[in-house]
Amino acid sequence: MLWRVLILLGVQLLGAAIGLWVAGPWGLAAGVALASWLCWGWESWHGLRVLAWLRQEGHPAQAPALRGLAGLWREAVDRMRRLLRQREQQAAASDARLQAFLQALQASPNGVILLDAAGHIEWCNQTAAEHFGLDAGRDLMQSIGNLLREPDFSAYLAAGDYRHDVLLPGRGSTPTHPIQLSVHLHSYGDGRRLMLSRDVTQLEQAEAMRRDFVANVSHEIRTPLTVLAGFVETLQTLPLQEAERARYLGLMAQQASRMQHLVQDLLTLSRLEGAALPGMEHWTGVRQLLQSCEQEAHGLSAQLTPQGAKPQRLVFPSAAHLQQCGEIAGNPEELHSALSNLISNAVRYTPAGGSISVDWQALPDGSARFSVRDSGPGIAPEHLPRVTERFYRIDRSRSRDSGGTGLGLAIVKHSLQRHGAALHISSVLGQGSEFSAHFPARRLRGCTLAPPKDAP
Ligand code: ADP
Repeated sequence: MLWRVLILLGVQLLGAAIGLWVAGPWGLAAGVALASWLCWGWESWHGLRVLAWLRQEGHPAQAPALRGLAGLWREAVDRMRRLLRQREQQAAASDARLQAFLQALQASPNGVILLDAAGHIEWCNQTAAEHFGLDAGRDLMQSIGNLLREPDFSAYLAAGDYRHDVLLPGRGSTPTHPIQLSVHLHSYGDGRRLMLSRDVTQLEQAEAMRRDFVANVSHEIRTPLTVLAGFVETLQTLPLQEAERARYLGLMAQQASRMQHLVQDLLTLSRLEGAALPGMEHWTGVRQLLQSCEQEAHGLSAQLTPQGAKPQRLVFPSAAHLQQCGEIAGNPEELHSALSNLISNAVRYTPAGGSISVDWQALPDGSARFSVRDSGPGIAPEHLPRVTERFYRIDRSRSRDSGGTGLGLAIVKHSLQRHGAALHISSVLGQGSEFSAHFPARRLRGCTLAPPKDAP
């Protein structure tokens, strides 16, 4: 400051000296006044430059270059420039924080919509846009009530009670492919709302399956139990002949064994679901597996063929062929259960006199194909995708009469999947069916390719 006063005095003195030299005492006064005006003009000019810079948003890089004699203004501009730079850095940092925050919301597996106090969309992530068919750019500041017109959602939004969520059909939901969304609103700030949406289709389906499963199991157990209870009551209350008693006891034993089978199959299924995948350390001979299946099939076929009826024709691979089938890695009980279930189904559903043919073929890529072909009733195309569902039966009474629980193919599918194999079913109604499983090469060893059929 002192420096500036000295400069002003210096300029005035210089003006006075020049004025005195040029025009005497009057010249001195005029010189001082002119020097003062000059100083004022100099200061004002710099002030105006600074003001002009500030009026144009005051970007630090465009600040006027004030040198040496600009004095006060130069310092003011420097300080302003520094302040502006700080502000810019703070704004950039908070902008980066906001972007990171929005990116986190964008990455959320759930739909996120930010609503203002009037229910307009301030921001939404891509998941929410997909859930509700919104356009994250075009629909900004649109009213959510206008965009989502589901009556349940409108009622939820209007009620203002957001303690629970609401279930809505998602975009593209159809009766055959339902998409279910759980939508939950949360209030925050001054009347704003956060809307979260979650795809719960699979959860709801699993819940529906669980409910169906419990209902099915209860039904399956209740039926034989009711029959058993009826027989017990009859035995307790009626004086029966010995032959009748024996017949009733036989029927009771049949129902008890049905329940036993059901419980056994349920336990097998739950074991398959809970157990670790079968390892590669245990190898079982395909020959042993198929031979034990063959024995069981003959026993079951004899048991089911009515007296006097023509027996079924069961064709299994020859002993020589079985010698070349090598070994398979996995859990022997599961493998046996899968193969024997397919064979026993063929035996149970094929009428007397029909034929069942079982085969094991090694394939050139080292994999192998197991197949059971029967001349039974076949399966209509509409049932094919569902026969491996638990308790799905095409003909209930036939399944029960032959000792079926409705869980056989579900067990087969699970066991095969756990060994890397998939179950294929091809069938023509009225002409028979073929159930086959393709085992991967990595689970097989020692299989020899069978020579082509026409080879000598
Ligand atoms: P079930 O205990 O009733 O046999 P499964 O799960 O083994 O139960 O089979 C499901 C349904 O698939 C059966 O009820 C039957 O209708 C049909 N099915 C299975 N195998 C055959 C077959 N070889 N021929 C015709 N239908 C079959």
